[in-house]
Amino acid sequence: MAFRIRKKKDVPGGLFSKCKSCGKMIYSKELEQNLYVCTECNFHSTVSARKRIEITADPGTFNEHFTELKPEDRLDFVDSVPYSEKIAKSQERTGNSDACLAGLCEIDGKEVAMAVLDFTFMGGSMGEVVGEKITRTVELATENNCPMIIYSASGGARMHEGAISLMQMAKTCGALKKFSEAGGLSISVLTNPTTGGVTASFAMVCDFTIAEPEALIGFAGPRVIQNTIRQDLPEGFQRSEFLLEHGQVDCIVSRSEMRARLSLLLEYMGAKRRA
Ligand SMILES: [Zn+2]
Repeated sequence: MAFRIRKKKDVPGGLFSKCKSCGKMIYSKELEQNLYVCTECNFHSTVSARKRIEITADPGTFNEHFTELKPEDRLDFVDSVPYSEKIAKSQERTGNSDACLAGLCEIDGKEVAMAVLDFTFMGGSMGEVVGEKITRTVELATENNCPMIIYSASGGARMHEGAISLMQMAKTCGALKKFSEAGGLSISVLTNPTTGGVTASFAMVCDFTIAEPEALIGFAGPRVIQNTIRQDLPEGFQRSEFLLEHGQVDCIVSRSEMRARLSLLLEYMGAKRRA
């Protein structure tokens, strides 16, 4: 006799979402209204770059730039599947060309250049396109004489692009340094997770570093560190709250407060309002 194992579906697809942190089932509509923050445990789940812009910028003000930049498989890199296939699949699934959306927008009427990493596109990994978009966003802020905001969510440098991805670290930092010397204001918002080469470059060198609650922020992952130093890691290691305590981030702001806090910060720093 043959047994057939059937997948049990106990809830209609999409009506409820399971929280990755506490495991509770949350009504999807409610989760969306709460900006994808768990109503039970306050876990800030990943949101796409498009959604992030929607909840941060004034409605209808985002003017996307640099859409002509597309990733290329320069090394003919193959791991489990060819890199070019991975790119195509991610593009089809997300509707974006790579893991960063950038452009000009307004927050409470104040103009800002904004670059947002998209964790839903190959884990928000930084290749040539992401690095170039961050750099051009810095230049866009310079041209428009406005502040800039970078939202990070990334697994780090994109290994499929080898040294080309690593050189984006120096390039983005160089652009931000020039921007800073010219008196530009930069704000970095770290979301879960911000790791690897992104943490080691543009995400940590802005004038203000803000983190969402309990975001994982670090260079190497906790398991790698634990195995290397052969010591138990302190509780809460590499989470926003731990970083705040150790002076690595300036403040922690929940997603529901973020827009208002960014607006206030821009106001304090003298950002100009659009006429
Ligand atoms: Zn939860």
